[in-house]
Amino acid sequence: MSRIFSGIQPSGELHIGNYLGAVQNWVRLQEGRDATFFCVVDLHALTGNYEPSDLRRRRHEMAVSLLAAGLDPERCTLFFQSGVPQHAELAWIFNTVTPLGELERQTQYKDKSARQESVLTGVLTYPVLQAADILLYHATRVPVGEDQVQHLELSREIARRWNHRFAAETPYFPEPQPLLTPVRRLMGLDGQAKMSKSLGNTIGLLETREQIWEKLRPAMTDPARIRRTDPGNPDVCNIYSLHKAFSDEPTQAIAAANCRGAAWGCIDCKKVLAESMETVLVPIRRRAADIGARPSYVTDVLEEGAKRARTIAQDTMRQVYERMGLTD
Ligand code: ATP
Ligand code: MG
Repeated sequence: MSRIFSGIQPSGELHIGNYLGAVQNWVRLQEGRDATFFCVVDLHALTGNYEPSDLRRRRHEMAVSLLAAGLDPERCTLFFQSGVPQHAELAWIFNTVTPLGELERQTQYKDKSARQESVLTGVLTYPVLQAADILLYHATRVPVGEDQVQHLELSREIARRWNHRFAAETPYFPEPQPLLTPVRRLMGLDGQAKMSKSLGNTIGLLETREQIWEKLRPAMTDPARIRRTDPGNPDVCNIYSLHKAFSDEPTQAIAAANCRGAAWGCIDCKKVLAESMETVLVPIRRRAADIGARPSYVTDVLEEGAKRARTIAQDTMRQVYERMGLTD
């Protein structure tokens, strides 16, 4: 059976980069509770700096945000990673077939370790746990942003190596492929790096109109537009990439023409964008308020999800142990 799996860290609030690059696709791809698995990967979030009380709150908020964004517990299995201990168990198994050199050349490891004084092993072995997340469910399709494509390549490599060693005749693990959206990599508002929870350059999916405007107003645009009369190039402007994600096609065309012809200043363009974003985000905010008011509903949905996930995960581990000589 072909399955879909993907995850998101509760390392901060769900932002529009996560939404446009991944979560919007999750909502679209829901194919049923036994076919589509989405996970709040709280064990991954331990690899950054965090306070336990913040993590407890963020896990819950991430679950609320995902449900508000449109995940439907009738059409997918949504759960916390730590509720299914087999993720960590399979990660250990995969550690034993993963070459260190492959981990050291991962871009995310290089970026994240460069920002830390003392680098934790978990930052290095993060993609091994990620391979376990996916392969535990034999998932073949993984909707992610572009930054995760390299990690998925490694997941395939790990599957191949494990199969080669322990299931050479009939491969046991499939080789998972990424599924990307048109917005595969949204830049942060400073225009310097990808929008990331850990970099503080985000717009949260649930932020208010006023909060969004405070961030959009100073956001980076085409650097060639120094004066109001300078013509711009929408193709290099992060604000225009947001128009492409949030505005309807006629509005996108007007924004592009008025940028090129300098008929709009960047602030005019941002005001129109803010309106388009409201149209998309108001219903999500409303759902979040409804769901957030029912904390026990959220807990129940995720516990149910973990129960379903555990059944599959236990079966995978039985098969893995059997093939590895860990059973009598
Ligand atoms: P962190 O900074 O803690 O790594 P993050 O913002 O990168 O947080 P993740 O939980 O690592 O978020 O990723 C969740 C999903 O969102 C992944 O599929 C990832 O590829 C996607 N994603 C993250 N940032 C972007 C972005 N700027 N544009 C498109 N997709 C993104
Ligand atoms: Mg990330």
